Amino acid sequence: MLAICPYCGAEFEIPQGVPIATCPYCGTSIKVETGEHFKEHYLFRVNYDYNAAYEKLLAVVSREVGSPKDLSTSSAPTGGTLYFIPLYVFHIDLKAMHGRGKVSEEVEDVATLASKDVPVPIPEGYKFPVRGRLYFDPKVVKGGKYLSPLIDPEKALQLVESPFRDKVMKEALLETGSKLIKIESHSEFIGLAHYPFWEVKYSYKGEEYRGYIDACDGTVVYAEYPKSLEVRVLASTLALLASSLLGGLLTAMLGLRVSPLEGLIGGLLTSLPALIITLRRGIGERGLYELKVEEIGITEEIR
Ligand SMILES: [Zn+2]
Repeated sequence: MLAICPYCGAEFEIPQGVPIATCPYCGTSIKVETGEHFKEHYLFRVNYDYNAAYEKLLAVVSREVGSPKDLSTSSAPTGGTLYFIPLYVFHIDLKAMHGRGKVSEEVEDVATLASKDVPVPIPEGYKFPVRGRLYFDPKVVKGGKYLSPLIDPEKALQLVESPFRDKVMKEALLETGSKLIKIESHSEFIGLAHYPFWEVKYSYKGEEYRGYIDACDGTVVYAEYPKSLEVRVLASTLALLASSLLGGLLTAMLGLRVSPLEGLIGGLLTSLPALIITLRRGIGERGLYELKVEEIGITEEIR
């Protein structure tokens, strides 16, 4: 669909299904449905350039178990793409009412992905910082790949609100012990934001690997890395040993007529298959680092 920018008058193409479009010439955003000027479009600062992102990436993969010792000295960056990922920023405001009194509430600004189709493997539950956003500037985005929002903001709000609703309700039930609780929502859509992520490629001994880095705060979210030959040989040897041990146990059990759930043999029998799977994974040439959000417990305060 062709649109005419209400601010600079330029004509530009709007991809299908995009609820908020941005003029590539002047950066003005419009609501596609109504053609209205949409002012609340933000941008998160690129604090990590290509080189800084590459350094963050190498620091993470060098610490991974099984990565070669010379990884940081024998690797070189081979290219990168800066993606601007679309986010929606919401103000969550939920109150649980019991009669006329407020028994619990949740008030927080949150950001969520505005498209399901993004080329960056962002882990589920990744918390984008909502503070420190600037107004959108098309000049900044020219240095990277701009991605359009594809989700309806109203639908996204319902999804984002849902865990907060559960939390408010749970707290209210604990507080009152009563089921006569009503939840009042004053949540609202604040605006569209674009958030920078680097895709950085690097080579090690002729093979190419890639990683994804939050360009605003430097968090590495996903990275491939080579595994040292020693680790791969060790893993395959151990996997072979474990497999033959498992086979031996089964044969012994048949001979002794031991129930598989009894004693030491039973214990080994249940833990060996899992060990073998883990070891087989260790044989592969590539290792994979994925940020685990729950384990690290990233909160807005820390970041
Ligand atoms: Zn324009």
